Amino acid sequence: MTAFATLPLQPSLLASLETLGYADMTPVQEQSLPPMLAGRDVIAQAQTGSGKTAAFGLALLQALQVETIRLQALVLCPTRELADQVSKAIRKLAANIPNVKLLTLCGGMPLGPQLASLTHDPHIVVGTPGRVQEHLKRGSLHGGGIKVLVLDEADRMLDMGFSEAIDDIVGRIAKHHQTLLFSATYPDEIRAVSKRVQQEPVEITVEAPAEAKPAIEQQFIEVEPAHKLDALAQLLTGERGPDSKWDGALVFCNMRKDVDAVAQELDRRGYSALALHGDMEQRDRDEVLVRFANKSCNVLVATDVAARGLDIAALPLVVSFDIAHDPDTHTHRIGRTGRAGESGLAITLCTPRERPKAANIEAAMGAPLPWRALKLAPPRGKTLNLAPMKTLVIDAGRQDKLRPGDILGALTGDAGLDANDIGKIDVYATRAYVAISRALANKALERLRAGRIKGRNFRVRALG
Ligand code: AMP
Repeated sequence: MTAFATLPLQPSLLASLETLGYADMTPVQEQSLPPMLAGRDVIAQAQTGSGKTAAFGLALLQALQVETIRLQALVLCPTRELADQVSKAIRKLAANIPNVKLLTLCGGMPLGPQLASLTHDPHIVVGTPGRVQEHLKRGSLHGGGIKVLVLDEADRMLDMGFSEAIDDIVGRIAKHHQTLLFSATYPDEIRAVSKRVQQEPVEITVEAPAEAKPAIEQQFIEVEPAHKLDALAQLLTGERGPDSKWDGALVFCNMRKDVDAVAQELDRRGYSALALHGDMEQRDRDEVLVRFANKSCNVLVATDVAARGLDIAALPLVVSFDIAHDPDTHTHRIGRTGRAGESGLAITLCTPRERPKAANIEAAMGAPLPWRALKLAPPRGKTLNLAPMKTLVIDAGRQDKLRPGDILGALTGDAGLDANDIGKIDVYATRAYVAISRALANKALERLRAGRIKGRNFRVRALG
């Protein structure tokens, strides 16, 4: 392990690293930072969790000239969730550099406010390819001063059909710039993109150390279509004994309509289940993700497309309610569990007619599938498997200068709650979400409604 202090980084960046508590570099950082800081193009094979965001974040901040009010660094990400996460990480690294302006520009968000915030050039833009391309075309964003271009999760951007947008963006920005490409996998398409947009890139592949490789246990269960829901409900509860519950499971369905049906049925059976699919409004999507992350939803039912780019921490359990159509999709699904060195369980339900799909997965895995039997228990009536928390929504956010501390203050002060009963607080532009221990949620709601937050009365509701 090598310390960050050995790198020629500006003192302000070293100070941020100290605040963040990062002393030593991760393997990806150790290999990619020296060539990146020397101005070389880099293509790096790096997964989520490898520290890649800090790696390119440091490289682009080091190259930044804050006194020059021009767009100098552009980071392209496949999804808005990832763009938000990358923006947050860069802001933290930039905390000690005064006056850095960073803007997140993503599709699915109204254009008006974005145009308004572009009246002065930001130094850094993090965004999704389609929307960034649109701003460059309109002339609301100027790419002539870009020094560093980052393609984050490039393989996923190609999967999502952003290849043309990326080429177009590259054609619209400064000719001479550094290009940093990060990708979890290196299919031929990635090599082709690298060839088109990079010059003599330094190539970096980091083998995950053996002990850090997550242990994913797979199980395949054959079940008749009519029994799938019973099987799922049983798997979600009983598998680790009656007292232990999964604190978060992701269930995949092949079709959108089944996502809704399965989530509703699980809800009826006493789970805190929510559906996530591509038809949903961005705001509803955000709300579902907030509730899953703050533990007020314990089963997320999703399509593959909707689950792409989700930033969810290691999940103990992933279930394919429908077996994936192809081995690649199956691999993506099971990769959602056992992240960050934690072990995980990936269960696939397969009907007798779907056996050929299982055979394809078996061929791709090159090993016999771990089939097991599931004995369906007689129905026990409704048992409650609700998530431990419940979410309250406050109709006020950053625009009202509301901060997490204000909400925490109102709940522990006037409302008399213990800080231990208050979970994650997420503050968005116009609304805020706070997780409260389920048993106390109604009390908290009443108290918040009766009292004031930051001396003001805001509308508060409970979700689910
Ligand atoms: P990423 O792969 O960029 O998603 O980062 C994974 C996680 O590792 C993030 O939560 C970072 O905050 C954290 N991280 C990144 N670099 C370091 C480091 N050098 N030491 C400790 N944690 C790190």
